[in-house]
Amino acid sequence: MIPNKTLLLLPGDGIGPEVMAQARRVLDWVQSSGRASFTIFQDHAGGAAIDAYGVPVTDATVAKAKEVDAVLFGSVGGPKWDSVPFAIRPEAGLLRLRAELQVFANLRPAKVFDALVESSSLKPELVRGLDIMIVRECIGGIYFGEPRGIETLPDGSRRGVNTEVYTTREIERVGRVAFDLARKRQGRVCSVEKANVMESGLLWRQVMTALQAAEYPDVSLGHMYADNCAMQLAKNPKQFDVIVTGNLFGDILSDLAAMLTGSLGLLPSATLGARDATGRRPGFYEPIHGSAPDIAGKGIANPMAQILSLALLLRYSFDMEEDAAAIEAAVERVLTTAGRTPDIAAPGRAAISTTEMGDALIAELAAL
Ligand code: NAD
Repeated sequence: MIPNKTLLLLPGDGIGPEVMAQARRVLDWVQSSGRASFTIFQDHAGGAAIDAYGVPVTDATVAKAKEVDAVLFGSVGGPKWDSVPFAIRPEAGLLRLRAELQVFANLRPAKVFDALVESSSLKPELVRGLDIMIVRECIGGIYFGEPRGIETLPDGSRRGVNTEVYTTREIERVGRVAFDLARKRQGRVCSVEKANVMESGLLWRQVMTALQAAEYPDVSLGHMYADNCAMQLAKNPKQFDVIVTGNLFGDILSDLAAMLTGSLGLLPSATLGARDATGRRPGFYEPIHGSAPDIAGKGIANPMAQILSLALLLRYSFDMEEDAAAIEAAVERVLTTAGRTPDIAAPGRAAISTTEMGDALIAELAAL
């Protein structure tokens, strides 16, 4: 009996629907293999939902997102909705979905495909074979801590305040995600904070140390200050396996790591919540790029980040490692042998369209 999995597709705006259409073809390929069957729901999010329903995400869409096994998201936003009120801007729909699903661990793999080693801003020998995973706590820390705000002082000057705050529970739950991932990778976690100058960082270090000793003695744990981590990522990124860190440092370090790979159109992400008593865990998957209004509708968007987000979904939400790995290997072969979309086109070779890249990928998968 093939287990039936449910998933919700939210293509969103701009290039979102164009790249999601290619991911959908890959889903159909997985289904045709007979290894899984999917019940697929699709709805609007972001600007498309504002146009259709007047809000960037409806209560019904949120309810469906909570009910399904995983959500595959495209991207939202664009100049068309620049003047809508702040509270219902397209991005508010994305933030609400993440908050309602209680997904707290943002996974950003930074993997360098051999075919694109030259696209990195670092020397080829520093990035060839690079495969690191950054786990960023994403619903706590200084972006959410209280007190916050801007106040006017008695002398008329103003003061802006944000608060970095982490509890033991928040650190442990994101720590477990990082340690679990490391077990399936090279078995090494580097925990990043500023324990030298921040009490929240000191607590972070203490909790990670205790968690590793109590539950993950088989995984090696190192600690690094965030500023040093930024330097080490630029100097010798291959020293890392899994990096785990809070919201602010993770925001910055994951963008730095992303650029080591050289292309926005190839970078997927996953955001996971806690497992419930039945072992079910919310999973939200999306490319890291936005809706790219400058190229939307031209048929030239790179669909690979969306397709690699689907591979992460199969791996982390559906436990379908073989299919996830097959998709990743097929992407690598397409980048090496077939044409590429303009964003990563090889010098001297004609660029191909979004659909043609999807065709090449499906042909690779069909040949397996
Ligand atoms: P962007 O990622 O959309 O685009 C940056 C540049 O990269 C553009 O030149 C674009 O053409 C290119 N690009 C991005 N993805 C590509 C792909 N798959 N293939 C080829 N080229 C690609 O970022 P931006 O321009 O800062 O933002 C555009 C809109 O997207 C804004 O409304 C922003 O708010 C929104 N946005 C949404 C998300 C999200 O939904 N998670 C994330 C970032 C930005």
